[in-house]
Amino acid sequence: MPRLAGKVAVVTGAGRGIGRSIAEVFAREGATVIATSRGGAEDYAEVPKGVEYHRLEVSEPGDWDRVVGDVVDRHGRVDVLVNNAGVIRYEPVHELGVEDWNHVVAVNQTGTWLGMRAVIPHMIAQGGGSIVNVSSIWGTAAVAGAHAYHATKGAVRTMSKNAAITHAADGIRVNSLHPGFIATPLTDAQDAAVNDYVVSRTPMGRPGRPEEIAYGAVFLASDESAFMTGAELVIDGGYLAQ
Ligand code: NAP
Repeated sequence: MPRLAGKVAVVTGAGRGIGRSIAEVFAREGATVIATSRGGAEDYAEVPKGVEYHRLEVSEPGDWDRVVGDVVDRHGRVDVLVNNAGVIRYEPVHELGVEDWNHVVAVNQTGTWLGMRAVIPHMIAQGGGSIVNVSSIWGTAAVAGAHAYHATKGAVRTMSKNAAITHAADGIRVNSLHPGFIATPLTDAQDAAVNDYVVSRTPMGRPGRPEEIAYGAVFLASDESAFMTGAELVIDGGYLAQ
């Protein structure tokens, strides 16, 4: 039996990179997937079986109301939320502008909160659900610069633990997922020196693939992880073990 058979799952930032892979692997594992991105259906040249598209700007409360309301109207429930959408900037503390700080916080942190806020009432009403919040190795350890990214990914880690404890009795599990360096459009667009540095410090000596994160998300979304909440799943080629 597919690992996510019968589950209705919302995935943010699913237009490319890790989020797209999560949407595709979830669909292969039997979920009904609501893949969201700022571009919506325009982000997809081909429509994988089992995937629907919605436009969702994660920092907009009204977008969450619209999308989650539509999902519940049409499917009757929402079993899984993957808060994956994220942005990174590399400025250190004193070089970061207020607008850029606010943007990173709005997407990575406020977006994650708004997503949880939108689905939790439905998950309470239906008796449970699984929320997977994508943090990063930079949610627990530091690299020079990237101050706003660290602030938000650390917040995602502790927000997940808070929601996990608050809603354990409601049957809602909340875990954070911590990728190491993964080859995606995000990392492709970065300075090669930054990428080489992170890969060179990864014990397995290579970038991860989006699917390697997607299968971790499948585990957290599925009933295989039924006794797991408030935990951190690190998939990083050994980076944080050092
Ligand atoms: P990516 O290739 O840049 O994809 C990011 C996705 O997030 C895109 O679909 C993007 O949509 C979406 N997004 C950005 N801002 C958004 C907004 N305001 N509202 C809705 N969607 C928005 O990045 P990725 O590498 O796949 O990263 C995915 C997640 O993993 C992020 O949270 C990232 O921090 C985390 N992560 C990545 C790595 C890595 O090495 N790649 C490592 C650790 C953690 P648009 O196309 O509309 O911009």
